[in-house]
Amino acid sequence: MKNRHPIRMCIACRSRYPQNTLIRLKQVAKEIIAFDGTGRSFYLCRECLENPRKVEGLSKRFRQDKEKFVVFLRALATETNPCD
Ligand SMILES: [Zn+2]
Repeated sequence: MKNRHPIRMCIACRSRYPQNTLIRLKQVAKEIIAFDGTGRSFYLCRECLENPRKVEGLSKRFRQDKEKFVVFLRALATETNPCD
């Protein structure tokens, strides 16, 4: 039995990683939220998640309020990996 994860690309740095190491998000109307199983999703790697310049770039790209977006990503990162 293989236990491999598909390789996905981070939208911020375009690096490729196994899917399980990436944060999965989606856009609903004008808001970026955690992927909930439906619709189109995209991925963000942990390096970008922790890179303020990348996060700022993304908040502009998706027209998110920067402060809120930072808080949202931080919460998501913590939630996904509580031991980190
Ligand atoms: Zn990245």
